[in-house]
Amino acid sequence: MTSFDPASLLVARSQAADEGPIIRMSQRARELRAGGMDVVSLTLGEPDFDTPDNIQAAATAAMQAGLTHYSPVMGIPELRAALSRKLKQENGLDYGPQEICLANGAKQAIANAILSIIGEGDEVIMLAPFWVSYEITVRFAGGKPVVLTAGVDENYKVPASRIAAAVTPRTKLIILNSPSNPSGAVWTAAELAGLAALVRAHPRLMVMSDEIYEYIIFEGQMASIGALPGMRERTITVNGFSKGFAMTGWRLGYAAAPEPIARAMGRMQSMVSAGANQFVQRAAIAALEGPRDAVEAMREAYRRRRDLVLAGLRALPGVRIGDIPATFYAFPDVSGLLGRKAGNHLIDTADSLCDWLLDAHGVATVPGNAFGAPGSIRLSFACGEADIAKAMARIREAVNSLC
Ligand code: PLP
Repeated sequence: MTSFDPASLLVARSQAADEGPIIRMSQRARELRAGGMDVVSLTLGEPDFDTPDNIQAAATAAMQAGLTHYSPVMGIPELRAALSRKLKQENGLDYGPQEICLANGAKQAIANAILSIIGEGDEVIMLAPFWVSYEITVRFAGGKPVVLTAGVDENYKVPASRIAAAVTPRTKLIILNSPSNPSGAVWTAAELAGLAALVRAHPRLMVMSDEIYEYIIFEGQMASIGALPGMRERTITVNGFSKGFAMTGWRLGYAAAPEPIARAMGRMQSMVSAGANQFVQRAAIAALEGPRDAVEAMREAYRRRRDLVLAGLRALPGVRIGDIPATFYAFPDVSGLLGRKAGNHLIDTADSLCDWLLDAHGVATVPGNAFGAPGSIRLSFACGEADIAKAMARIREAVNSLC
């Protein structure tokens, strides 16, 4: 009998779908912990809060009322209507219920959108640092990521003039994420207006605006690019319940887009999964229309944690960090530490810095290369203040030991 290697059957696409460093670092942290090491993990963008009680109660009631069956692929009409109202009232966005497609997480909404409009060779402008999944999904769709980077000196926001210079006849999409994972940057209304003007000047160009951190803003104001003049037809707005309502495990997100694109997103979704869970969609209506005190309380907790992390990072020589007006991430530039030594061990990349912080000091972070910024690392502060204090003390000790 000839030997058979199942791995030899894999196609290139299967290699594209690799989340790399976040999963790798969080898994390594878990393994070290299982082996008895005291590890603080700042890897995952996962709120440590439980989902607010009113949302849990709505899910339980819906389940007990028998809403345990398949739901329409694009979502239940009641939630699509509630989201249409929410987008109008909170964001000034004008999408009818028929233009909204619920998905099993914002991640799936993003995949639905990209798979619907990006094909072989289409260029997608990605503003680095960016959330890992965008690039993977664009490549998965056969598209070509065109990466433009803004570091701490530009407040992590690529100016519209540089974006305009990167647009070619093949550019179809600009991916915008404000507030941003991993930088925490928030685009102002004026900055969005500059971006909108350049998009409107091109006949085939759209924006995908991922607004999933809209409820975790400490300074500044949320503004939605799709609400600007002429941008309704040019924008796919993505959002979800995971972050603001601490509902990561419930898997519910959505995209709003002009109807032909919304319908195509539904078709993409029907191919790989069905409609999102029906009792979760009922709970989402309670989230949108119920009291927001828990959301506010979580935001205030993230603000305190942000202050702790910023104070800790700003005290480190060789580390540069801007303001963090939103989200629960810090994305310090650590290039000033690279090339230094821990004993005999050379720390030459952000990867090796993160490995050393984990192995020698018990703090798990994520190297920036997956976010399109290899000189930085990401710290998530979606964990308790005690863990943050412990992690910052360990990082201080680590950095001070470098020579
Ligand atoms: N968009 C951004 C910017 C994110 O950071 C995340 C999760 O980390 C998502 C989307 C995905 O969210 P969901 O849990 O709804 O799939």
